[in-house]
Amino acid sequence: MDVYDIDRDDTDAEDKAPKRPYIHVLFDCCNVYQRIYRRRGQRVYVGWCPKCGRRVKVRVGVDGTQCRFFRAE
Ligand SMILES: [Zn+2]
Repeated sequence: MDVYDIDRDDTDAEDKAPKRPYIHVLFDCCNVYQRIYRRRGQRVYVGWCPKCGRRVKVRVGVDGTQCRFFRAE
């Protein structure tokens, strides 16, 4: 019973952190910046150009990167 309670607490803690990380991408096609969000449970950010709708996908390396800005050419 004690172990079950600890597991449930861990799950609750995860649910309380729904903050989705995001990055900024410069779309060369229309020369605009757009904020794109990380896919839940994946090491990839997916977003669309706000003007022409072009789709962009940014992979996050295993080592991670401090860079918050990317360029979609
Ligand atoms: Zn565009």
